[in-house]
Amino acid sequence: MRNEMTCLVKAEPREGLWMHTAPVPEIGPDDVLIRIKKTGICGTDIHIWNWDDWAQSTVPVPLIIGHEFAGEIVEIGRNVEGLERGQRCSGEGHLIGKNSRQSRAGKFHLDPATRGIGVNEQGAFAQFLRLPAFNVVPLPDEIPDDIGAILDPLGNAVHTALSFDLVGEDVLITGAGPIGIMAAAVARHVGARHVVITDLNPARLDLAAQVADVVPVNVAEDNLRDVAHGLKMTEGFDVGLEMSGNQTALDQMVENLVMGGRIALLGIPPGKSPVDWSRIVFKAITIKGVYGREIFETWYKMIAMLQNGLDVSGVITHRFAATDFRDGFAAMKSGQSGKVVLDWR
Ligand code: NAD
Ligand code: ZN
Repeated sequence: MRNEMTCLVKAEPREGLWMHTAPVPEIGPDDVLIRIKKTGICGTDIHIWNWDDWAQSTVPVPLIIGHEFAGEIVEIGRNVEGLERGQRCSGEGHLIGKNSRQSRAGKFHLDPATRGIGVNEQGAFAQFLRLPAFNVVPLPDEIPDDIGAILDPLGNAVHTALSFDLVGEDVLITGAGPIGIMAAAVARHVGARHVVITDLNPARLDLAAQVADVVPVNVAEDNLRDVAHGLKMTEGFDVGLEMSGNQTALDQMVENLVMGGRIALLGIPPGKSPVDWSRIVFKAITIKGVYGREIFETWYKMIAMLQNGLDVSGVITHRFAATDFRDGFAAMKSGQSGKVVLDWR
């Protein structure tokens, strides 16, 4: 009945992405076929569009890209239990191995053999996606497809924000990109006292203040220490969530943290970056690197928080039909957007 589908493809090893047709994927006994409704454009997809060094060394060509999605199950492999046709879902885009020490310990998100849909394997920017049933996350009725399509980056935000106990703590978030903004909303939701978010881009800081009850600080203009004093913080921030990938931001975070403070690092610096480790030692700071999200504990927590009042809907600033993907990518590249969602129906 449906043999061909439309999909967004890295078809050639150069800048750009192209809308093609491809066969609808065949599913194996442990897979489901998902009809894609909405997808989110990620910073990763911009790297793939730009065909930078990382993309060139990582992404096979041709490849259907995209890993942030919401859709509906339309076909079920013969071994799959507990899922039905018509089930609305999102899903974990990391395809894990089952043999590593970490996987066998149940820490699926730490499996070193992980492969990403839309990065190493065929992705979700298509009318249909094949996914192992294991990776499916059913969506409750109260979570709309738009939000379902951004659960992947919300998961990054939630995993990072829940790295440390935030109840009653003063939290500094560096980088008001979509993930930093969502992490700010999560930090408030779980009971942080003050949440300060920094950026250099006024549009991003405005968006942060619209989405969450946070104190936006433009570090190009304002002094972070003055802001902290204004909030009656005497010794510095208790917890830092680094979400810019910028070296200066990390430096500033270490500088403004309390003795014994804790930092979760999600932002990815472009290369090796110099760090003054002696300050980290003398301040007795704990640093945790954060990759992806916990499979599936983060999914459980974020869905529960969305059900009990966490609202990140304002972070979606642009919506386009999938055929207008060029406009979506342009919005992302402009630096003026939050999340950009494409509609595949
Ligand atoms: P983004 O690029 O949209 O946002 C980063 C923000 O940081 C931008 O708004 C930028 O203006 C701001 N910034 C730059 N320099 C700054 C400075 N000195 N101080 C404060 N802010 C500064 O990215 P995003 O999609 O929100 O993702 C956040 C980061 O997390 C990125 O580095 C991304 O690569 C990384 N990431 C990591 C993982 C992971 O698994 N570890 C997953 C997704 C994204
Ligand atoms: Zn993503």
